[in-house]
Amino acid sequence: MPNRVCFASIDVEHPIDNLSQILEVFKRNNIPATLFVTGKVLEQHPGLFKNLPSNYEVACHSFTHRFWNTLDSEERKKELSDFLFLYQNIFNKKPRGFRAPSHIIDEEALELLEEKGFLYDSSIVPHYPPFKKYRGYKGKRPLLPYSPNGRKILEIPVRGQIFGVPLAGAWITKLPYLIYRILFIFYRPKFITLSIHSWDKLKNLERIIRLLKNKNYQFLNGSEIYQNYK
Ligand SMILES: [Zn+2]
Repeated sequence: MPNRVCFASIDVEHPIDNLSQILEVFKRNNIPATLFVTGKVLEQHPGLFKNLPSNYEVACHSFTHRFWNTLDSEERKKELSDFLFLYQNIFNKKPRGFRAPSHIIDEEALELLEEKGFLYDSSIVPHYPPFKKYRGYKGKRPLLPYSPNGRKILEIPVRGQIFGVPLAGAWITKLPYLIYRILFIFYRPKFITLSIHSWDKLKNLERIIRLLKNKNYQFLNGSEIYQNYK
């Protein structure tokens, strides 16, 4: 495993207005990424995802983007089976990764993902911003990729900088870039997740990517992380 790893991920859900510009930034900086795409978006724009370069992996962000704390087991199963059917038709293979809408996941959901053949999940946020109501996973939340409760499935945590400052779209846009620069002088986590949405503004994105590169982070997509950590 490389010394410092950044998992670059894009949650692709409606609206997708900024997706092509975000991808341009990623491509220009030559970094691989995983796109967690909803079935609804995939259904409408199959060509957009079929023709991505091979270092961009398309994974599952459920079908409708309804939050899983509001769904019963049957509804969750349908979210996945609708997605799997569509994905198989487009890519002629199975998706490997999953990210729950709004990061809301529980033990039962992880079990279901495993049953459906997913190799990794990337929903669990180890440090949650204190002012936000935490609705996510209730179990242990380690900071490096791990197997929750000894399961086969690998959890790739959505880990931010120190003090739970996320390396995520809205934060990157709103916090002055200087703050990230200072944080990375004091602390460089071994593993970090960059989490962008298809509707996020691009402000600071490229500077953050360059900062991570300067700090010797190697960018990997979800499948590459799975290969390294399984
Ligand atoms: Zn989402």
